Amino acid sequence: MTAGIIDGKAIAADLRGKVTDAVHRLLRDRGIVPGIAVVMVGQNPASKIYVRNKSNAVTATGISPYDENLPATASEAELLDLIARLNADDKVNGILVQLPLPPQIDPLKIISAIDPNKDVDGFNPLNAGRLASGFPGLVPCTPLACIRLAKTVHASLAGVEAVVVGRSNIVGKPVAQMLLAENATVTIAHSKTLDLPTVCARADLLIAAIGRPEFVRGDWIKPGATVIDVGINRVPAPAGGAGKYKIVGDVAYTEAAGVAGALTPVPGGVGPMTIACLVLNTLCATCAQNGLPAPQI
Ligand code: NDP
Repeated sequence: MTAGIIDGKAIAADLRGKVTDAVHRLLRDRGIVPGIAVVMVGQNPASKIYVRNKSNAVTATGISPYDENLPATASEAELLDLIARLNADDKVNGILVQLPLPPQIDPLKIISAIDPNKDVDGFNPLNAGRLASGFPGLVPCTPLACIRLAKTVHASLAGVEAVVVGRSNIVGKPVAQMLLAENATVTIAHSKTLDLPTVCARADLLIAAIGRPEFVRGDWIKPGATVIDVGINRVPAPAGGAGKYKIVGDVAYTEAAGVAGALTPVPGGVGPMTIACLVLNTLCATCAQNGLPAPQI
């Protein structure tokens, strides 16, 4: 069997196009321009790349980006002041604080200070609680990306046997709760799970969010399963190849492609879709703040 490739780049481009259309309609019909503040503290090189990619995608959809940069020496109080200002700013419908933060700043305090209605990353504990309780709210972008990609293969996730490897607050736990909300049968595996290969092998939908290069092997995968690989791992490039490093996922791609029914590549799978879900969340937050129904995209 050769797996079908779930083309995250193309699916993300389609979603961004639909968000762009909806943003243009908001301006034309209501005079509303959605805005997102992207806050960065310090100059972490990986964060700078992520922030640049997010700002480019935001701008291309017609959403106004408000970039806020604080020095790496900024205090927690300074960042909290900035968040309070952005919470009160009507032009700003979404607030994203790029993680990680420098050690003098408690990320939980910062995330908790973001107005839950502007929390387009979905990390505020109130939104996490809403998701866990099955109430509407903003949900984290990467888990939303996983669900939308899985739904390109499974029209309905009801009754699907899903295994999520990883239980972080930003990926594993929320994606498991979103699968549950879709009526999948969900197992959450982690570093203490016994016999992980056997647990993975019962999945019709396997989501890997581990942070270990090519950790999930082909013979752990049920033939025909859908595999969503969240991992982004930098490893040394093969000798003779271009560049010093290459990016691989948490799944051994070539092995998995011989067994799975459908598979996301890394790069080009969950990553671009995560950014598309950020612009979608910003649009949804803008609509909710203006008393408009959520866009059906
Ligand atoms: P975390 O390090 O926060 O969580 C990793 C999870 O994997 C933990 O729950 C851990 O278990 C589990 N784990 C680690 N080792 C094993 C093991 N040997 N067996 C089983 N489970 C294990 O990572 P994140 O959730 O933040 O990210 C996961 C991956 O996804 C990373 O590669 C990250 O770069 C990528 N990522 C990609 C995004 C995208 O846009 N595509 C966005 C966010 C993340 P335990 O809890 O027991 O320690």
